[in-house]
Amino acid sequence: MAIATINPSTGETLKTFSPLTDDQIESKLALAESTYQEYRQTTFTRRGEWLNKAADILEKDTAKFAQIMTTEMGKTYQSAIAEVKKCALVCRFYAKQAPEFLANLSLESDASHSYVAYQPLGIILAVMPWNFPFWQVFRFAAPALMAGNVGILKHASNVPQCALAIADILTQAGFPEGAFQTLLIGASQVKAIVEDDRVKAATLTGSEPAGMALASVAGQQIKKVVLELGGSDPFIVLASADLEEAVDIGVKARMLNNGQSCIAAKRFIVQDIIADRFESLLIAKFQELTIGDPMDENTDIGPLATSTIRSELDQQVKNAVAQGAKILIGGEPITDRPGNYYQPTILKDIPLNSPTAQEEFFGPVALLFRVKDLDGAIALANNIPFGLGASAWTSNPEESDRLINEIEAGAVFINGMVKSDPRLPFGGIKRSGYGRELSSQGIHEFVNIKTVWIK
Ligand code: NDP
Repeated sequence: MAIATINPSTGETLKTFSPLTDDQIESKLALAESTYQEYRQTTFTRRGEWLNKAADILEKDTAKFAQIMTTEMGKTYQSAIAEVKKCALVCRFYAKQAPEFLANLSLESDASHSYVAYQPLGIILAVMPWNFPFWQVFRFAAPALMAGNVGILKHASNVPQCALAIADILTQAGFPEGAFQTLLIGASQVKAIVEDDRVKAATLTGSEPAGMALASVAGQQIKKVVLELGGSDPFIVLASADLEEAVDIGVKARMLNNGQSCIAAKRFIVQDIIADRFESLLIAKFQELTIGDPMDENTDIGPLATSTIRSELDQQVKNAVAQGAKILIGGEPITDRPGNYYQPTILKDIPLNSPTAQEEFFGPVALLFRVKDLDGAIALANNIPFGLGASAWTSNPEESDRLINEIEAGAVFINGMVKSDPRLPFGGIKRSGYGRELSSQGIHEFVNIKTVWIK
């Protein structure tokens, strides 16, 4: 895939970039390594000042950064603004909390004094996706830098200007040159970097094939990896739920980021006795959505990030129909204008044993399933290779307890949509990946948890 800015709402190629050569990569790695040796000695106070300064820059130039995102991957400008603000939040969160999360932990043993010290590892590689091009990077960078690591970023090839802007923000904020660098490289150049002895660990957010490729190389090198991959999150609505609210939030949860979010609600699992009403309310809400220019503040849904994503999504919908699913609304690319637009779509009657029932739809397509009762809802929710998040709607505490205990996912949200929050850990189980980002758990992924024993 060429490294280029291609506006998804026009199809126009605005700028292309040459991938770094091996020599250029080598000098960036050498700089990262030499910077690390000094950077690891800096204090939390110093790192926190730089991170707060990065937050200041994000808050001051929010519009500029939001525009880069919208231009490169098509999310609505309004949501891009919110994303930049959230990045500032995660910087401030870790600037404040890291000293507490990484404070020495005294533990009793046969020593006169024994404790755990959390020390940095070195260079950490982040392989990141285009869908939240600022947020995914900052949620890695903020804890990694506070812990004393240095970061190198291989961003998705369709968001190079986001990648460059992020490295620039962190350098402007005062972090030493080399503490966080963007490497404009293709996916095929990642393997050699993971194999380099100076690189100590890696994190990847993206598709299963990319996760498997990175983890295999890292496995050969005995290097730690955190993987945040796809999902096909259930959105369960039981008869006891507030139906109207569930529909309102369900539409938001499906359409977030033009439908391209790993934690979007993808499978709507609705109890039979309320399913007809749920279905007609959902159709009505989908019909109300405004599709258009992502820069326009009235737009709910912009284009998909690339033309390939749109054609793959369309193929999935066509396969679903061939496998027996029915289209309730939508089901086609929008071709009356340039850009990668796709109709908001609802599929129902999806055969449970069909490939469609097991797949992630990365776009504005909702899958609708009916179940008899709570047992059926839990069984269907879990009948998927993924386990990222789950949203469940009920007013019954017993139902709620069972959902919390029995849903196989990294997160369960009761009567709310699945979202990420710096204060709460984020990550999945099963084929959605492993490891956690954010909160205290996230910062502990890339540290040496060193046991100290003193006689
Ligand atoms: P990818 O997984 O291909 O891209 C994510 C990142 O991984 C990019 O930086 C990409 O680089 C890199 N990458 C891809 N292949 C390799 C590899 N073999 N070794 C190392 N790095 C690699 O996602 P796509 O953009 O192709 O999207 C495809 C699907 O992935 C989506 O439909 C969705 O299902 C899932 N996805 C999930 C996301 C999530 O948030 N969990 C985010 C994005 C996608 P490059 O861009 O140069 O290929």
